[in-house]
Amino acid sequence: MKFKILIALAVSGLGLLTSQHGQAATSCSRNASSAQFDSFYAPLWGCQQVFINDMWSRFHFDHDDWDQGFGFEDACNDTLPLKRTFNALQLLAYGVTATPTCSTSSSNVGLWGYCWAGSNIDELDGRCGDSPRAKTAIGPVIDNHTELFMPFFFDETVVQRAGTIFHEARHANGWCVHTNSCADGTGSCDPNFWSGCVGVGSSSGVGANGYTVLYMNWFATTARAGWINAAIRADAVAEGNHYLTSRFGTDPCFRMNSGGGTFNVC
Ligand SMILES: [Zn+2]
Repeated sequence: MKFKILIALAVSGLGLLTSQHGQAATSCSRNASSAQFDSFYAPLWGCQQVFINDMWSRFHFDHDDWDQGFGFEDACNDTLPLKRTFNALQLLAYGVTATPTCSTSSSNVGLWGYCWAGSNIDELDGRCGDSPRAKTAIGPVIDNHTELFMPFFFDETVVQRAGTIFHEARHANGWCVHTNSCADGTGSCDPNFWSGCVGVGSSSGVGANGYTVLYMNWFATTARAGWINAAIRADAVAEGNHYLTSRFGTDPCFRMNSGGGTFNVC
């Protein structure tokens, strides 16, 4: 078993155990953008209860983490955090396949990312606050959890949100502490692509930033018909390239092309 330590995986790591959305309701109010593809994905799953039940149990949503304006009382409202999280989880589940699997034998993370994320994330909590987008805490004496903040709900597109959940699942799975040397700066970097999971108590291999890239690459290249369009593919490519350009200490030396495939740059 991996030794796990208590550190908040976030740029602003302090504040763990102190963020309570009920204490500052006004900072939770944001206007939802209509340009983040929620209206594209919402009808693809229809907010059906069977899908909600599956997400609710896999990711251990709790009423008390999603009420008071987060959407528990209005779970199909695309302007509220809960539904915007649901849309991302549905994309993670069904964006590449109609039959997501728990087997991780395929290199295509789009086939198993949903089940794998649900197995690794202990619970998914909605929180107020403007930074970071998300953070995961794991440790021997705390209730492991992944928290999602205002920028996740309202600044990210559905595709970005799916990638962020997959990214946080990598933290929950392997810890993979971020380093400080990359364009995006302190606490957001992996040292390199293929061995980017580092830090005391961490596993090895591709780190959380690399998982974001892998998700964008596989989604952009193998998405199901009807679950992607040109703008959404461009968004996935841009997100992947942002990570490739700005989130690694050593340039991975590849980027994504407009179709989502990769090409070498050094
Ligand atoms: Zn991270």
